[in-house]
Amino acid sequence: MSIPFYLHDLGQEELEAVAQVLRGPILTTGDTVKEFETRFAAFLGRDAAVGLSSATGGLHLMLTALGIGPGDEVITTPLSFIATATAIVQAGATPVFVDVEDGTGNLDAARIEAAITPKTRAILPVHLYGQMADMRLIAEIAQRHGLEVIEDAAHCVEGERDGLRPGQASAGACFSFYATKNLNCGEGGAIATDRPTLARRITTMSVHGMNKSAADRQRHGYSHWDMDEFGWKYNMSNIQAALLLPQFARLQRKLEQRNTLARLYAEALADIPGLVLPAIRPDCRHAWHLFVVRSRIVPRDALVAGLQAAGIGVAVNYRPIHLMQWFRRTWGYGEGAFPVAESWGEEVLSLPFYPGMTEDAVRQVAECITTVTAEYLNR
Ligand SMILES: *Cc1c(COP(=O)(O)O)cnc(C)c1O
Repeated sequence: MSIPFYLHDLGQEELEAVAQVLRGPILTTGDTVKEFETRFAAFLGRDAAVGLSSATGGLHLMLTALGIGPGDEVITTPLSFIATATAIVQAGATPVFVDVEDGTGNLDAARIEAAITPKTRAILPVHLYGQMADMRLIAEIAQRHGLEVIEDAAHCVEGERDGLRPGQASAGACFSFYATKNLNCGEGGAIATDRPTLARRITTMSVHGMNKSAADRQRHGYSHWDMDEFGWKYNMSNIQAALLLPQFARLQRKLEQRNTLARLYAEALADIPGLVLPAIRPDCRHAWHLFVVRSRIVPRDALVAGLQAAGIGVAVNYRPIHLMQWFRRTWGYGEGAFPVAESWGEEVLSLPFYPGMTEDAVRQVAECITTVTAEYLNR
């Protein structure tokens, strides 16, 4: 690949932070995770954060800790990574999809009320690509119907909309530190919330429901522990937390770099026939996790092939969840159920996008799209 889809920027500072953990006795959840949780909650302006092994685990624990399970329905978007919906299934509840806005690809809040039934317990919006869903309206609808809101903020560490940040107008927000996310440690996740009791319960449920941690046992010597409630194994390790801590100092600068790249892309792509950029809302601070375009003349897969043949890395975020084979088979979905999400699924393409990307690389990507488009039109 001459232009990769993504390049991480972890380096010397992260190596040193990990080395420091390795010199100590606790490799699993301990003081480094606590430090990360404090920093992350402060960064977001939330009361509490809990470090976890993934965002998927975070969504599962949030739902379960809120008492959402079998017999309950959770309203969510079909235009997301599958984990948004599979976490609902994992909790034992039923995902109920609602179509998305054509401009942003976010869950269309105006369509939510029509999908509410007596079984609905929660709304689970995703802040797609880093631009927040309409949390003011979603929180208002939830309040009117006595529902919880859980945010999938896997793309949105830095985002804000209408003065609201992730976790502020909901039970809590779930974040991913998967390899390509804005803040990453290879694999990892967290929840952030203004409900300290919920955070404590999620901490317990993230380690089998045990009432003592490995660090407690190391510090005070062995004493019997008990299992307070049912739990899973979703805790974050000190090694993961060490990889994350040095990155806080770079978040702001990296966001500015992605902002600049997004502006350069928008300029370079402006005159390509059939190429549409998602709507950027003025009332938002976009976290810019992904830079996507919609290809309306050249078939998306032809554009994917053309870019890849030129050595340019691409991805598709996302083909809609309800059209995945398992969802078709298990839940009986087919084409036509959510037409707006389906048109995104047909047209959307993610371009190379990461802070170290050069202006020249942005121009090369745009030139390649121009060439593929011209070839398609003259075929
Ligand atoms: C990455 C991602 C997830 C899953 O995150 P993991 O940490 O890999 O579990 C969930 N939702 C969205 C929107 C994502 O992009």
